[in-house]
This record gives sequence, C-alpha cells and structure tokens, in this order.
Amino acid sequence: MKQYIIVGNGIAGITAAQTIVRADPASEVHIFGAEPYPYYRRPILWEFIAGQIEQEALFFRPTAWYTERGIRLHLGVGVTALNPQAHSLTLADGSSAEYDRLLLATGGRPFIPPFEGSEKKGVYVLRTIEDAISIKEHAQGVSTAAVIGGGLLGIETARALASLNLDVSVIEFMPHLLPLQLDAEGAQALQSLLESMGMRILTGAATEAILGDELPTGVRTKDGRIVDAELVLISTGIRPRIELASEAGMDVNRGVVVDGQLRTSATDVYAAGDAAEFEGTIYGIISSAIDQARVASANMVANGSATYNGTVPTTTLKVAGAELTSMGEYVVEGDEYTQLRHTDEGTGTYRKIVLREGRIVGAILLNDKSRVAPITQLIKRGTDVSAHTNLLLNDDFDLKSLL
Ligand SMILES: Cc1cc2nc3c(=O)[nH]c(=O)nc-3n(C[C@H](O)[C@H](O)[C@H](O)COP(=O)(O)OP(=O)(O)OC[C@H]3O[C@@H](n4cnc5c(N)ncnc54)[C@H](O)[C@@H]3O)c2cc1C
Repeated sequence: MKQYIIVGNGIAGITAAQTIVRADPASEVHIFGAEPYPYYRRPILWEFIAGQIEQEALFFRPTAWYTERGIRLHLGVGVTALNPQAHSLTLADGSSAEYDRLLLATGGRPFIPPFEGSEKKGVYVLRTIEDAISIKEHAQGVSTAAVIGGGLLGIETARALASLNLDVSVIEFMPHLLPLQLDAEGAQALQSLLESMGMRILTGAATEAILGDELPTGVRTKDGRIVDAELVLISTGIRPRIELASEAGMDVNRGVVVDGQLRTSATDVYAAGDAAEFEGTIYGIISSAIDQARVASANMVANGSATYNGTVPTTTLKVAGAELTSMGEYVVEGDEYTQLRHTDEGTGTYRKIVLREGRIVGAILLNDKSRVAPITQLIKRGTDVSAHTNLLLNDDFDLKSLL
C-alpha cells in the first residue's frame, strides 16, 4: 500500500488528494495543512470582507468531504523540513512522517515591498481567512483606506472596502491598472468605471511611505502625492513558498522548478499550484493549480507520463456589473502579432483580439461575456481564422460559426 503525502490544503492539495484516492483506492493519502481550516475559497474572501457572506460560506470542502473519501486531513500541522533521500518529513511538533510519493502544494505568500511604515498595525495583506477577519474588523472603525497595488486582488479588495462606505484610493505603480490583464485602452475604460463608483485611482505612483505613528494615517508616493488612509492593504503580488524544497537542496528558482510531468528535481517529489514554476512561469491562478495537480497526481499514482503543457491564463473580474476577461497573450509587441480593438464608451464595452499566424492567441473582453467561451475554444484549438480577420470584432459576427 502506497503512502502519499500532500503538503498544503489549498486547491492544488485537495485536487490531487481527490485524484489519488480515486485512482489508487487502496492507498493512504495524507494532507498536512498549516492553516487550521479545511479548504476554503480565497476568491470569495472579498465577499466576506464586504459583509455579503458569512464566514461559514467560505468553506467549500467541510471536513466530512475528506472523511467520506478516506483522505486523512491534518489541520494546523506545518511541515518544517523535507529529507528527500530518506523520503521523510519533519512536522512542527517534531514528529516525522514517511512517504512513497510527495506533493508540495504549499502555495504562495504575499510579497511586501520594503516601504517605510509597512510594519504598522492597520497595514494588511490578504491571503487567509485570518487576514480577512482582521481587515474586516479594522474597517469598521475607519473611514479612509488605501490599496497599494492595482492588480486583480487590489481592485477587488478596494471594491469590497468601498462597499463598506470607506473612501478608498488605489495606488498603482505601473502607468495603468491591471498591468497583467489589460492594455492601456482597456485599463482606461476600467478606471473610469471605478472612478464612477467613487474610488480614487493613482497610476504611475510609486509608494514611498505609509504615514502615521502606531496606526496609519495616509500613504505618500515618491512624487509627493498623499492620500488619507486609516487602513492600508498591500497587494503587490505573491512569492511561492519554496522553503521546504530549497532547504532540501532541490532545484528552485522563483518557485519549485517542475518538468512537464510536474516532477521536481528530487525523486518521488512533485509540486503543483502557486508554489510551482513551470517553464519559468508561476501562474498564481486556480485553473493552473487544478491542471497541475491533476497531472502531478496522475503521475504520482502511475509513475506515469501525463503531461502538463501550460494553462491559458484566463482572468475574469467583475466590477460593478462589468465583466472583464483577459486570456492568453493579450499584451504583446512585435510584427508577428495583429491586434484588433473595438471600444464602445456608451455601453462600456472594450474588445481586443490578438492574432499570430492567423490564429487567435489572446483577447481582452470588457462587458462582452458572450464572446468569452468561443474565443477560449478558438485559442485552445488553434483554429485558423485568417479568412475572417475583418469580421472578428463585428457585433453581428457569430464566432461560434468558426468552431
Ligand atoms: C483574495 C484572493 C482572491 C483570489 N482570487 C482569485 C480568482 O478570482 N481567480 C483565480 O484564479 N485565483 C485567485 N486567487 C489566487 C488563488 O487563490 C491561488 O492561485 C490558489 O489559492 C493557489 O492554490 P494553491 O493550492 O497552490 O495554494 P494555496 O491556496 O496558497 O494553499 C497552500 C496551502 O499550503 C499551506 N502550507 C504552506 N506551507 C506549508 C507547510 N510547510 N506545511 C503545511 N502547510 C503549508 C498554506 O498554509 C496554504 O493553506 C486569489 C487569491 C486571493 C488571496
């Protein structure tokens, strides 16, 4: 009977556990999770902060879900060391555990740039339920907030804080919002929408200091702009949690380096999710964590050759009823690309399609939900659409006819 151990109880960890118990029912599958909670959904922590849902609604997989599947869950148990030669782990209480196959699904932690004042009480990051509870409590007693970082997470949290009637400023270092998901034109459309909801948006703004004594009172940028903020949220990206692998002498770069089978450099050790780096990329999104966990666990069971070829990153953001989806290669440069754009300010619609060699390789769709599914399929299938390039953005052209 094989003994599988999974370190990390996030989406990568539970997806792998579920796949393993199905494929190898006679095995023993253990998950060690440092947090004291069964799996919960990070993407709806904003709704919890905004008071739209209770804490209970976050728990997507109650402990019964694990028990029913025979998955042995060890909550609040951090793994402190890995010895790949001995196939063993050291746990926080000093005991050890042995594995035949190991998955590192340790996720990421928020990155905090070295701003002056970032250690103050009232300055937060958002990754866990505990972070969300602290933010929510602090928000009750204040009227101004600043979110440093205008990425997906920053904007959604800003929106949650604004819904609590806080006066919110978003401070983005890059020249426009959502630098990873949007080009300048699309970002301008989004910025106008957020401003119309009462948020203040500062772009091209490098944070210099968080002001105040014990508690924050504001944020100052390097070019001297100051916004009031009694609550500050730092949302400037994540760093994969690689310490178990790096201290064990395994190959790490920014993340734990994996190959197409999700194997790490240590025999019988795999990695998936925000902790893993595949071909230089850390995806940091749920869909890739699921894709990777499925491939890793299939190979853990069968010593197999299931292959991961990357995930087409699709991000969907909902702001005040507007749905924004960015997928594939949507911010590109170079003669090999054709970029088609359409903006309709009246309806707040922005549509961009990126083509390479007659095939759609990326798109941005703001307020244009119906095109998301067909374009996703066209990217996945690599369909040659060159005969229809002039029609692709037309309102009445049916993209499904190309599938
Ligand atoms: C507020 C928020 C909103 C998000 N919204 C979206 C979204 O809309 N769409 C999207 O695709 N993605 C979103 N993301 C990103 C998404 O949550 C991550 O990509 C996903 O959680 C990665 O899953 P994971 O299993 O790799 O890691 P994680 O979810 O980080 O889970 C890893 C777990 O491992 C545990 N762990 C780490 N080290 C150890 C150790 N040594 N011992 C034991 N346990 C350990 C950690 O405590 C953690 O619980 C959001 C993230 C946040 C924070």
